[in-house]
Amino acid sequence: MNATIATTGGPELAARAARELEEASAPEIIAWAAETFGSELCMTSSMADALMVDLASRAAPGIDVIFLDTGYHFPETIGTRDAVASVYDITLINVEPSRTVAEQDLVLGPRLHGRDPGICCHLRKVEPLQRALEPYSAWLTGLRREDSVTRRDTPVVQWDRRRRMTKVNPIARWTQEEVDAYMSENGVMVNPLQYDGYPSIGCEPCTRRVEPGEDPGAGVGPEPARPSAGSTYER
Ligand code: SF4
Repeated sequence: MNATIATTGGPELAARAARELEEASAPEIIAWAAETFGSELCMTSSMADALMVDLASRAAPGIDVIFLDTGYHFPETIGTRDAVASVYDITLINVEPSRTVAEQDLVLGPRLHGRDPGICCHLRKVEPLQRALEPYSAWLTGLRREDSVTRRDTPVVQWDRRRRMTKVNPIARWTQEEVDAYMSENGVMVNPLQYDGYPSIGCEPCTRRVEPGEDPGAGVGPEPARPSAGSTYER
C-alpha cells in the first residue's frame, strides 16, 4: 500500500477494516496494519510505558516509533526511551522541535510554558508531531474505550480526517485488567516515575505527582490551561 490509500480510499478502507477486525486480537490488528501500510505505518510513544511498543514490535518488527523529544523531559523518560530502543525490535525516531529550549528562551523569553502553554505546546509538540507524521499513511495508538465517555465508541480502525491518515487502535477493546495482565505476564518496560506517583508523564515543568484517588490524567498538562499536552500522543 502507499499514500494513495490515505488520500483516496482511506475512509472506506478504515470503515471496512473496523467492521472486519472488531473481534480480532490486538496482534492480528497490528499485523493487518503492517501488511496493509508497510513502511508507511508508525506509532508514537510518550515512554510512560512500553505496552504498545511491546505489542507492535512483535507483530510489526522494526516499526518506526516516534518520540517527541521536547527538551523538557524528565531524565527517567529519556532513560526509558533509550532502554526501550535497545530492548525492543523497533526503529526509534527521535523528533525535536525546530528550536532548543535555550534558543526558544532567547527568542520568546524563559519559561514560556508558564506564560503561554498553548504556544509552547504548539512549538515543542504539535508542529514537530505534524512534521514527523508526514511520511506515514497510518499510525497505531493505545486508545481504549474505557479511557473516557468520549472514547466509548472508538473503532479498532478509523479514518483521521484532520490528518488524512488511518488510525489503528488495536487495544480499543481492552479493559484495564487486560492491560495489567499483559504488562505483568510479558514484563513490559515501565517508566520508573510511574512507581513514584506519576501515572501520566509529560514534560517536567507541566507534570506533577497525583494524589491517591485523583484522576490519573490530572498530573499532566500545563497549568492553568491544558490545551494539548496530554493529548498530543493520543497514547
Ligand atoms: S507540556 Fe509544558 S513544557 Fe511541554 S511543550 Fe507543553 S507547555 Fe511546553
